[in-house]
Amino acid sequence: MAVHTEQYQQIVQELQQANATLVAVSKTKPVEDIRELYALGQRDFGENYVQELTEKQPQLPADIRWHFIGHLQSNKIKFIVPFVHLIHGVDRLSLLEEINKQALKQQRVIDCLLQVYIAREETKFGLDETELDQIMSQMQQGLFPGVQICGLMGMASFTDHEPQIRSEFQQLRSLYQKYRALHPSFQYLSMGMSGDYQIALAEGSTMVRIGSLLFGARS
Ligand SMILES: *Cc1c(COP(=O)(O)O)cnc(C)c1O
Repeated sequence: MAVHTEQYQQIVQELQQANATLVAVSKTKPVEDIRELYALGQRDFGENYVQELTEKQPQLPADIRWHFIGHLQSNKIKFIVPFVHLIHGVDRLSLLEEINKQALKQQRVIDCLLQVYIAREETKFGLDETELDQIMSQMQQGLFPGVQICGLMGMASFTDHEPQIRSEFQQLRSLYQKYRALHPSFQYLSMGMSGDYQIALAEGSTMVRIGSLLFGARS
């Protein structure tokens, strides 16, 4: 079997205890694998590439909640706006402006998470606290009626050094708590992947994005 069923059941239990949501990251995996997990009750799936997502989505049940977790290019937003459930990786103001524009055009309000830069790696994307403050103050002024900011997302450094991962997640959680106290729309703290989701849960994650533990390694 392609999908790791027992692993899935175990993760679902861990997440129930932590009151967190599982986003099953199905990027590069065939629709058959997604169907298999769907049959076990999974409804939230995450994809990184617009073209792959728009090819898979019409082939699969309509009640799947699609999460876009990749680096989103502005000119491709329009293709996912009709059906996307949550965009995790809003990492720049210009992207928010463009999501807002497309959302208004297509008469939707798009739920988004702001991606925060927490890792000590140049290759990762994200906003810093000053930029978060600026965006949230513009949100409050009503500048982006097509967008609702529902929380924060972050990726820890790719390292085996657990204290570093933990401290990066703590940093993200404290930002999340700061904004949550001010903005009632904040309800998701998206942090944790296959390699670090247990640390993330211990540090207050409410949404983990897990791929390879469920679907096997990607080639
Ligand atoms: C691919 C990806 C994941 C899942 O990674 P795994 O290590 O396979 O669990 C989670 N989040 C983001 C942003 C990703 O790109």
